[in-house]
Parts: sequence; C-alpha cells; structure tokens
Amino acid sequence: MEHEKLHQLLIDQKNELSQRIEQIERDFKNRRADSRLHYGERDHSNDDVLMGLKNEAKMKLELTQDAIQRFIDDEFGYCIACGHPINDARLTALPHAPFCLACARQEGGNSTTVFSASNFLIKNDI
Ligand SMILES: [Zn+2]
Repeated sequence: MEHEKLHQLLIDQKNELSQRIEQIERDFKNRRADSRLHYGERDHSNDDVLMGLKNEAKMKLELTQDAIQRFIDDEFGYCIACGHPINDARLTALPHAPFCLACARQEGGNSTTVFSASNFLIKNDI
C-alpha cells in the first residue's frame, strides 16, 4: 500500500482510538454514578474488562502517534530497532508497527515498553 494511504489510515486510527478511550472513560463515570444511585455498592465485575480495553487502546494509540511522528521525520516504514524497511504486507496490516517482524520477535524482554509493544505486535502474528 502507498505510504500516503497508510498515513491517512493512521490518522483515522488515531481519531478512532481517542474516541474509544473517551467513550470508555465516560462509561466508567456513568457506571460509578449509576451504582452510587441505585445500589449503594459498586459492581466491579466489568471494571477489569473495561480497564483492559482502555489500556490496549492507549497502547495502540501511542504506537499510532509514534508512527505518525515517523512520517513527519521521514522515517516511516523503517524498523526503529534495526533500520531495515518493514515489509509492505506487515505495514498494510499494522501501519503503526514500529519493528520489522524479526525485531518484534527479538525485542521482547529488553524493557517493559518495548516488551508490551512487541508483544502486542506478535499477538497479531504478522
Ligand atoms: Zn528490525
């Protein structure tokens, strides 16, 4: 896919993720207000799920913003670890991918940030 299209995809993805995070935060507030009103005690059962979704969206948003920054720096499409071009199929499926596949598999464990980012990318197995 052309990089210009990927840039547009990333911007759409960024907006979508920001909205999703806002929505989850709103849900949290509503649920809190709701449970105070009706039950006195809070039902925690869905909080972990919501929290997980929010954290995942936040992590992806960070990767997306980093990728948009790489467009500005004219470094988009290159692995941030080894500097080799990331293959087209991977970029098309994961425009926010910071690593080539080889590095995404290797980097895990070096630091928490890289670990969670690469873990997320490996999960998609592209
Ligand atoms: Zn690499």
